[in-house]
Amino acid sequence: MKPEKTSVDRHIHVGFVRSLFEDPGVLLTAGVCNGLIAILVYGTTRHPIYLILGAALLVSSTYRYLTIRHVKKTNAITDMASARRAERAYILGGIVQSAFMGAFAFTAIVLVPDVFGELAAIAVIMAGAATVVGRNYGSRPMVAVFGFTSVLPVAAALMLKGEFNYFLLGLYIVPFMIILMRMAANVRGILISAISEELKTKDIAQRFDRALNTMPHGLVMLDAEGKTVVANMRAAEALRFEDASLLQRRTLKALLLRVAASGLLSTKDASFADAELMKAIRDGRERRLRLKLTDGRHLEFTARAGRDELGVITFEDVTRRVESDDKIRHMARYDSLTGLPNRDYFNELMIEASETGDRRRTIGLVILDLDDFKTVNDTLGHPVGDGLIDAIARKLKPFESRDIVISRFGGDEFALYFDNVPDADTFTERMNVIFDTLTGDAHVAGHVLRIQASGGAVLVPVHGADVDGMVVKADLALYRAKELGKASWYLFEEEMDQAFRRKQRLKIDLRAAIEDKALRVVYQPIVSMETMQIAGCEALCRWDHPELGAISPAIFIPLAEEMGIVSRISELVLDTACRQCVLWPEHIGVSVNLSAKDFRSGDIVATIERALGDSGLCARRLELEVTETALLDDKAMTRRYIEDMKRMGVRIALDDFGTGYSSLSYLHNLPLDKIKIDRSFLMDVTQNRRALDLLRGIVDMSRPLGLAVTIEGVETFEQLKTLAEHVRPDLLQGFLFGAPLTASGIDALAHTTWPFAKDLKASRRS
Ligand code: C2E
Ligand code: MG
Ligand code: MG
Repeated sequence: MKPEKTSVDRHIHVGFVRSLFEDPGVLLTAGVCNGLIAILVYGTTRHPIYLILGAALLVSSTYRYLTIRHVKKTNAITDMASARRAERAYILGGIVQSAFMGAFAFTAIVLVPDVFGELAAIAVIMAGAATVVGRNYGSRPMVAVFGFTSVLPVAAALMLKGEFNYFLLGLYIVPFMIILMRMAANVRGILISAISEELKTKDIAQRFDRALNTMPHGLVMLDAEGKTVVANMRAAEALRFEDASLLQRRTLKALLLRVAASGLLSTKDASFADAELMKAIRDGRERRLRLKLTDGRHLEFTARAGRDELGVITFEDVTRRVESDDKIRHMARYDSLTGLPNRDYFNELMIEASETGDRRRTIGLVILDLDDFKTVNDTLGHPVGDGLIDAIARKLKPFESRDIVISRFGGDEFALYFDNVPDADTFTERMNVIFDTLTGDAHVAGHVLRIQASGGAVLVPVHGADVDGMVVKADLALYRAKELGKASWYLFEEEMDQAFRRKQRLKIDLRAAIEDKALRVVYQPIVSMETMQIAGCEALCRWDHPELGAISPAIFIPLAEEMGIVSRISELVLDTACRQCVLWPEHIGVSVNLSAKDFRSGDIVATIERALGDSGLCARRLELEVTETALLDDKAMTRRYIEDMKRMGVRIALDDFGTGYSSLSYLHNLPLDKIKIDRSFLMDVTQNRRALDLLRGIVDMSRPLGLAVTIEGVETFEQLKTLAEHVRPDLLQGFLFGAPLTASGIDALAHTTWPFAKDLKASRRS
């Protein structure tokens, strides 16, 4: 027996052995018939051997029948080992029974020759031979056993008979025996290959089934008629069918409509999905389609055309993916603090809205900016700042409607898009209501904060509206609101655009003027109250625009600050003023204005040092004018810069004194040398007693602090007289003593005593 190699071989072998035990009745019938035939021969010959052989055949076949039936009944063949045991027992029984048949034939032909016996024995053996293949193909040894124990004795007996014809017949039986064995082998071979093919197919089918039902996607395969031939469990689960078999032999449309009937899907969606997917399959394309079911799930269908079949549709429950995509999209579109659309998404919404609807309507955009929000952040911290932003968002949200989209535009800016503005008046009313609601107190983390905002708005016809252009215009209007004192909103006007363009142009020209060194410096005399002689002068920058004429530094200095190039102007003025001052008589000093940005860059100390070094001017003759706004929020750093400058020997004057909020605190904290009282204090000093008292108070207060006082903007003799009598500052500056002059103009005034000295004396006498 060949050893079985594979599980398939083993499986077949067990089956074959079982087949041996299939029909014990046939064996019994044959055995009993054979026994009776032997007894029949005893009847003709009266030789007891036939009786013995007949009995042996009867007993052995009955015994064999009983054992075989037992095995069959008890299902004793379960595995390879039990099959081997059973096969061995079967063969053993077979050897005995077959040997008795062989003995019967050998006896009838050779030992106790009898014509009927001979015929009967050969008939019995041949009948056995005819059926042995059918019965015993399952056991290769069994056929051989039959051949050796039954057929071979017949052949041997015929050959031993001693007659030529018998001898030939005996010889003929040998190849017959071989043919018999070959036939059994062939039957066996054919059966084995058929069975193993079947088993393999079954195996593949099982694997396919397992793969199909363990895949994470639902799958439906459609045949050429568009009906389901394969469907897995997942498909049934996803579509809420009880069993995958319920999906069989139905069209996709029928399946989807059944899902629709269960209420999971609208009929419209079902028909749409069927049409789209089937069309894609028929066109040989791949198509993905996502449907939302009424139970909240999202199913993604993918249709692919097939080769032999029509196509395959897979579907996947993508609810989690859709939800996380939604979350990511939400995070990308909405501001996390206020939950309002962010700037990008607001832009998208605005574009989307403005591109649809009535083409004759007017749309509007408002940009709101909190006034002095930075102070809240700086003084109370960012969490309170965030709380304030949130409080404002909550005040704005009630205005959200089909026509109004509100966004946190960034930082402390909010934007409102009005999709349909009936007219400017209605819009203004609406905006005033929003503004009034917004302005007021907000309670944030135990603080009561005052909300104050500025706004810029623009209205445009929707036809041809350009969202970016609207933002620019609303920004310009906002800029105007900030310029004009905050806490209000302005509607954009063309003039603002022109102003903006003018400003842009001026910026370009200013940069060129600085590059070309086209700025010049003039000097305004500063006169001693005591001597009425020049004590110094203030260097003031001048820009003569080739087309627009003289541009005030009050305009171009802030512009240069905005552009971040003001330090180049300061450097130019410092250099020029120092070089000039060296050329003037010793008693004339020069003052140079510094800008806020100079202080913030921190390079200013080195610039001053270089200007002094390059010109050879004695540091004592240089004075720097700083305004309050120029002084940093960071007091410690301001102090350090000022101390560094003072260490060089230059003097520091606080310019425009009295126009800021905290002039007095600077006087107290910083090592200043002088204050320059702003000309606004002088305005009605001649008529208004209180104004005079105020001015005198400031001067009196400065003296004990060791500060010199300059009063700016002296324009009339009247003013001078009042100052001389009641205030007596150290120095005076103003058009009365001269407008800003060229350097040679100052030189010319070096030894002049202003005639007012005499006049003052005269007026005092009178
Ligand atoms: P400021 O430093 O207060 O300069 C005094 C301004 O008052 C000058 O105007 C001057 O011409 C003007 N002024 C002088 N006397 C009178 C008067 O009697 N009546 C009136 N109504 N005005 C008088 P200017 O030159 O137009 O400068 C304006 C401001 O521009 C200056 O104010 C200063 O803050 C700034 N500035 C000028 N030049 C420079 C500069 O080189 N660098 C920096 N950073 N700022 C400068
Ligand atoms: Mg000044
Ligand atoms: Mg001033």
